[in-house]
Amino acid sequence: MSSVTVGVPAKINLCLGVGPSRADGFHSLATVYQAVDLHDEVRATLRDDGDITITVHADMDARVEAAPIPQDLDNLAARAARALQDATGTVDGVELAIRKVIPVAGGMAGGSADAAAALVACNELWGTGMSRGELAPIAASLGSDVPFLLHGGTAMGTGRGESVSPVLARGGYHWVFATAAQGLSTAAVYAQFDLLNQGRQVPEPQVPDALMTALRGGDPHELGPCLSNDLTEAALSLRPELADTLEIGLEAGALAAIVSGSGPTTIFLAEDDQHGLDISIALGAAAACADVIQSRGPMPGAHIIG
Ligand code: ATP
Repeated sequence: MSSVTVGVPAKINLCLGVGPSRADGFHSLATVYQAVDLHDEVRATLRDDGDITITVHADMDARVEAAPIPQDLDNLAARAARALQDATGTVDGVELAIRKVIPVAGGMAGGSADAAAALVACNELWGTGMSRGELAPIAASLGSDVPFLLHGGTAMGTGRGESVSPVLARGGYHWVFATAAQGLSTAAVYAQFDLLNQGRQVPEPQVPDALMTALRGGDPHELGPCLSNDLTEAALSLRPELADTLEIGLEAGALAAIVSGSGPTTIFLAEDDQHGLDISIALGAAAACADVIQSRGPMPGAHIIG
């Protein structure tokens, strides 16, 4: 086999509980991830000189103007290929081509998704034969969200988010995403979170029981009030205009409106496709909104498509 293509979803956090900063600089998290129907693709083509090269193609210019994507070995997909080379001792190399659709620096883990996709693609291409379980620690070394993007579906993340376990979730959900023209650095949002919590005792985070109960029921009306994000205050203090976008979505009848991860993408829960369309049209008028995307979840994690 000389070429393998992998599709990989974006993630949203149905809840994002953020605890105190740990000794290693990360915050302890308690989150429920959901993989959604917004996919990057990574094509891996065999190189027999052992080198790793990368190109990035963007279908939607507006979604990638938000922040520069490294076109060299700093790209998370290239770092994933290098980590798999190191773990397996393979002498093969790879030419990676990313087709980017997930908003960049948008709080939807686009870089982590490409890393997960590169791990799955190179594992297949090089015949290194690692199971998903064996790929998980390599994924965790690349970033906190990477193990979930191998896993997909709906799952709980603890530790710094890298420790993933499945949750019992029924049904599918209709989402609307409003992207922003300017990306937001995850590190800057966590630094703002620390600043806002200075002098306060930040408790260890927990996934709310009500969210788990709602997921077992599968009713979006029950799920809506359970969505939460502890980074909201920090993201809104850096991007106050996002408050208007959230308000417009709620006025249009969204069952919930929250910031996605560290932002600046905002996410809205709809009853069905038609309701999602109504919300999308209303969000099109929001000044801070660069693009509106209708989507569904949950979706599988990184998977071979060709
Ligand atoms: P997260 O939600 O995981 O905190 P994010 O979705 O906010 O991340 P990413 O799209 O993953 O942000 O990009 C964050 C930064 O990572 C970018 O500004 C870019 O410099 C760098 N990066 C490295 N590799 C990639 C990649 N394959 N795609 C996008 N960004 C990448």
